[in-house]
This record gives sequence, C-alpha cells and structure tokens, in this order.
Amino acid sequence: MHPLASNAIVAVIGAGAMGAGIAQVAARAGHPVRLYDNRPGAAAQTIEGIDRQLGKLVEKGKLGAEARADTVARLQPADSLEALADAALVIEAIVENLEVKRGLLRQLEERCAADCILASNTSSLSITSLAAGLRHPERVIGMHFFNPAPLMALVEIVSGLATPRALAERLYATAQAWGKQPVHTRSTPGFIVNRVARPFYAESLRLRQEGAADCATLDALLRDVGGFRMGAFELTDLIGHDVNYAVTRSVFDAYYGDFRFQPSLIQKELVDAGRLGRKSGHGFYDYA
Ligand code: NAD
Repeated sequence: MHPLASNAIVAVIGAGAMGAGIAQVAARAGHPVRLYDNRPGAAAQTIEGIDRQLGKLVEKGKLGAEARADTVARLQPADSLEALADAALVIEAIVENLEVKRGLLRQLEERCAADCILASNTSSLSITSLAAGLRHPERVIGMHFFNPAPLMALVEIVSGLATPRALAERLYATAQAWGKQPVHTRSTPGFIVNRVARPFYAESLRLRQEGAADCATLDALLRDVGGFRMGAFELTDLIGHDVNYAVTRSVFDAYYGDFRFQPSLIQKELVDAGRLGRKSGHGFYDYA
C-alpha cells in the first residue's frame, strides 16, 4: 500500500504537547502542515517553539540549518477549520473528551474533502464511538503517537468497526514513511500500550499511597534498577495528569468499572489542584 504523497497537505488540530510533535514529524517528512488550535495565537506560538527545538538540534550538529529552515517553512498556523479544507489527512490532538472530539469530527466532515482521512491521536477513546456520529464513519481511524512524538518511534494504527483495512494499511505505510514503527491494533480500550501501562501507573500510585516509598525512590528503582526508561511519577508528570487521568477514567468506564483500572485519588487531587505536571510547572515534582 502506498503512503500519503509527501507533498499532500496534513492538518494537525490541537497545538499542545502532542499536536506540536506530530506537526513537526509531518513537516520533517516533507508535508505542508496546517496547525490549528482554538486558543488564539497558540498555533503560531507552537511553531515558534518547534523552530527553537530544531535550532537546538542544529547547534548540537544533529540537523542541518537548511533542514530546519525547510521544516519550519512547511508549518503554517491556521486560524479556522475552514483553512484545513484542502488537507488530505487531518490528525486531531485536542482534549481527551469523547463528546468534544465527536463534535470536532462532525465539523471536519462538513468542511474537508470527501476523501480526506480523519485521524485521531486519542490515547484511549473508542475509534468506533468517535466515528459513529458521522455520515462516513469509514474515514475515521486512530493514529496514536507517543510523547514526545519526534523521538518516540511507535505509532498505533487503530481501526474501529467501520475502518477499512486499506485505510489502516495506508496510514501504516505513511507512518513508516515518516520514520516511525507502526503497529496495527483494533480499537479496544487503551489500545495496546496504554492498556499495558495502566497497572504500571496504578500499582506505583498504590505503593505511594500506602507509604511504601516516596516518588523519587520509586522512580529511581523502576528506572535505574528495573530498566524502564522512566518511573511512573516522572512519566505521568511528562504526559500531563489531566491527560493521564482522562485516559484512566475512559479505560475504567469502558471495562464497566473493573477495579484493575480504577483511577487513583492522588491523580484526581493533582488535576483538581491544577498541578498537571511539567506543563504547569508542578506535579509530583516541581519544575518552576
Ligand atoms: P494538551 O493539553 O497539551 O494540548 C491540547 C490542545 O488542544 C491545547 O492546545 C488546546 O487548546 C487544544 N484544544 C482543545 N480543544 C480544542 C478544540 N475543540 N479545537 C481545537 N483545539 C482544541 O494535550 P496533549 O497532551 O497534546 O494531548 C492531546 C491528545 O493526544 C489527547 O487526546 C491525548 O489523550 C493524546 N495523547 C497524549 C499523550 C501525552 O503523553 N500527553 C500521548 C499520546 C496521546
């Protein structure tokens, strides 16, 4: 199956942590990218941030100055959904909320070309449910990147009930063309990685709640002795507790309240306090 042509326009919606990374990946692969966020000015700010990130790579000798300039030139902020009408692929990376994402997909169906692929970077929501309200649910698919998207190789290509195999193959080939290692999966709660990761977070949080050890000790054990790249507390600080809590809730609800996936009160307290992790300056650790 052929990947998307490298000059095809890719639209990314949501200029937060994931949207920024995905936009960078698509632009590095040669696509003209339109970035839209409903916070005025956010998309332009994110593109400036990508430019700074790429600048650091140039300083370290990991990227040529020309590649940086070409990549940034391919990134354009969009000030409305109408400005995404000529995209061949839209990847949404907005808030992890089923109704909000469904509303966005309905608006996209009105505005985008009939053959435009509507992909979601959701971490846990059902692709089948996201697609259900559309006139053409067969154009919806999950394209789940990991954080930070420019560095993490894995991309889950998630098929809902209506997703044709040919579309999944096309996005799989596209992810490969973007230098990623995709995997096909069905739309089951949490897909593969977020499903397996639930007990990793949940047991770490229970150990903390029971006073077994503090966050730094547990993280150091998992990272330096256990061989994980990061411990659960530093990793959820990176993911964002609002995002991680929403994912935990969604997997818990999808399994009819199965205790194994029960969200932690510690997580909820952090979200209620606005201590969302790195992005807010405070989480389990302080970053300010
Ligand atoms: P984020 O909070 O950093 O960014 C979300 C962005 O979407 C914000 O800039 C917000 O202004 C914008 N937004 C919200 N609603 C919008 C709307 N209706 N229209 C346009 N823009 C809107 O969140 P994130 O961490 O980038 O996560 C985004 C998505 O990616 C979620 O579905 C999340 O589950 C998924 N995801 C997150 C991670 C992670 O580690 N953070 C990893 C993989 C997937």
